[in-house]
Order: sequence, then structure tokens, then C-alpha cells
Amino acid sequence: MLDARKGKLEDLIRELGAPERLSTKKDVAIYSTKKSLLRIPNRVYITGYVKSDSRPLYFHSVAITYIPGKRTANRGECSCESFEYRGFPCKHAVKMKDAYVAWLAIERKNR
Ligand SMILES: [Zn+2]
Repeated sequence: MLDARKGKLEDLIRELGAPERLSTKKDVAIYSTKKSLLRIPNRVYITGYVKSDSRPLYFHSVAITYIPGKRTANRGECSCESFEYRGFPCKHAVKMKDAYVAWLAIERKNR
């Protein structure tokens, strides 16, 4: 279960340590990626923070599971109100999936 936190990224970094990756636009910070060892071998569990649009400087905590190659994340949660009232996926989950896919593409190119 995700720690449903929100706050300034600098405070989150101070509490949690540096993220594994930051997106080039600095609106997404991924703290960890874990390969799932259960059933679906390629599935990745991704946790991180995505910038809020309505509150400048604030970030929402987001966790998703994603299978590389798929168009969308298949599950997840977020600390925002949209997730609370409308459920998954909120725009933060989509942003984090897109940022992860972008990093995968860069990693492949650099190999
Ligand atoms: Zn959200």
C-alpha cells in the first residue's frame, strides 16, 4: 500500500531520499521500480510523485503497476481527489506511466 502523502517535492526528498529518476520536465519523480515476481513476469510496480496542477509546488504520491508495451497502466492509486472520487486512472497515474515509458525508450537507445 502506498503512503498517501502530498507535499513539496523538496520535503518529500528530504524525508524519503533522492528519487531513482526525475523526468526532464521535473514534474514526475520515480522513487522505485520493482519487477513483479508474481504471475505476470514483466509487470513493474512503480512508485513516485507527480506534480499537482492545481497547487503549485505540490506533488501527489502515485503507485501503479504497468506491463511494458501496453498502452495503459493496469492498476494503481494516487493521493489526489480525482482518484478518491472517480478512481483509477487519474491524470497523475497517466503522467507517471508516460514518464516511465519515456525512460525505457532512452535506456534502450543508450544500450
Ligand atoms: Zn492523481
